[in-house]
Amino acid sequence: MTEKSLAELRRSVAGAIIAPVDAGYDDARRCFNALVDRRPAVIVRCFGADDVATALDFARTQALEVAVRGGGHNPAGHCVCDGGLAIDLSLMRRVDVNGDARTARAEDGATWLDFDSATQACCLVTPGGVVGSTGVAGLTFGGGIGHLTAQHGLTCDNLVGAELVTPDGSVVHATADENSDLLWGIRGGGGNFGVATRLEFRLHPLERVIGGRLVYAGKGVSEALRRFRDLVARAPRDLSCGAVLAADDSLEPILIVAPCYTGAEDDPEELRSLRSAPGLVDHGVHPHSFLAQQHVFNPPYGEDRNYWKSTFVRELPDELLDELLRRMAALGRPPGQVLFESLHGAPKDAEVENNGAVGFRQAAFNISAMATWRDTAVDEDHIGWARDTAAAIEPWSVSGGYVNYMQADEPIERVRAAFGEETFARLQALKTRYDPDNVLRRNQNIPPL
Ligand SMILES: Cc1cc2nc3c(=O)[nH]c(=O)nc-3n(C[C@H](O)[C@H](O)[C@H](O)COP(=O)(O)OP(=O)(O)OC[C@H]3O[C@@H](n4cnc5c(N)ncnc54)[C@H](O)[C@@H]3O)c2cc1C
Repeated sequence: MTEKSLAELRRSVAGAIIAPVDAGYDDARRCFNALVDRRPAVIVRCFGADDVATALDFARTQALEVAVRGGGHNPAGHCVCDGGLAIDLSLMRRVDVNGDARTARAEDGATWLDFDSATQACCLVTPGGVVGSTGVAGLTFGGGIGHLTAQHGLTCDNLVGAELVTPDGSVVHATADENSDLLWGIRGGGGNFGVATRLEFRLHPLERVIGGRLVYAGKGVSEALRRFRDLVARAPRDLSCGAVLAADDSLEPILIVAPCYTGAEDDPEELRSLRSAPGLVDHGVHPHSFLAQQHVFNPPYGEDRNYWKSTFVRELPDELLDELLRRMAALGRPPGQVLFESLHGAPKDAEVENNGAVGFRQAAFNISAMATWRDTAVDEDHIGWARDTAAAIEPWSVSGGYVNYMQADEPIERVRAAFGEETFARLQALKTRYDPDNVLRRNQNIPPL
């Protein structure tokens, strides 16, 4: 890439070009995971589908690897690449809501906070992720598990249309009537087929939730964790509920349970049961807005080093819970956390089963070993902890793990297992049609045939 070609690129986009010499380069290349430190040759902050096509064309003519950035949260750091071109969509965040049709159209750089703020202004919602700064497109393309999963399914189940720029620069639309196979593929198959510039979602009415977090500490955590598991197994679909297991500085376990109830009762039996579990030290569950619920977890951006490994499991037996509790002390310092995401309720509905490239609906939970730390000197210890913890969960595994949480070093076999053989083969055929040269390979990659 020459000075001249870069100058031409600067003139040909409506958005902004950020090269290493430009102010703001270090901020623009930073992503959620501080473990990732990559230096793209150029970052193209796109403003519209034409800019995306121009960026893809420039990358092709200059033989640059391509990365695509939405919210910058992918733990593998797929939104940046060394020496390549990063297509940054963060200028494109508009969300338009059609209250009568109960649909919303989001530009491809919108975050969940952008999206939920717009839809909640009309008392509507679609099930997204649990952290507001996560990108809508990136999360949706990997499935999408969050505070309303039991009620309304995975995020991708609610995706009804998309506009994408394919690597050859064409603009394609994917709906139930037009390129329906592409819609099927982006519902779970990741950003493998094109750069999405607009997504359209189905919305559901929602005025308030009963939510927040319950915190348990010390010896009661073991019993509270079992209570969470049993409750979720029989929970009605108007209650989604996740949990996070961590440890304090003296390595005593801490459990945070985050329910999100949308039914008509003021104090449902399931929440009473959680409140009465032993070890409760903080009861922060009450009626509030869904936007407040989206702030229950607010991790800092770009500060912690992260290494995650997720496993879908068919059950959560006592033996596994006890092992996970032991693992919280195994490193001799707080290792990070284990996240429990339940897949009960709407994700299991028969009518959504074949509508997307999702291979984990049959699982009961997604269990993720999420090592987090700051000191670069202990990288290997924490990475080892996440790997060993995932290995301890593996005997109960039903698929290769959640693509949205995968690190870059996951082998292709785990990506393949995440979808299952049949779905993976269908995704490969789709990839061959839309991206035969694997231009979009910095992702949980589906290689073309
Ligand atoms: C703090 C945190 C909380 C999270 N919470 C949840 C959660 O509650 N539920 C859940 O399911 N997941 C969650 N995730 C995982 C997250 O959904 C995925 O990592 C997702 O890929 C992040 O999307 P992004 O746009 O923010 O990330 P980016 O790193 O910007 O993008 C990730 C990848 O998505 C693809 N992509 C993004 N935008 C586009 C586009 N417009 N067109 C084509 N491809 C695109 C690209 O392949 C890109 O490399 C969380 C991650 C973090 C770090």
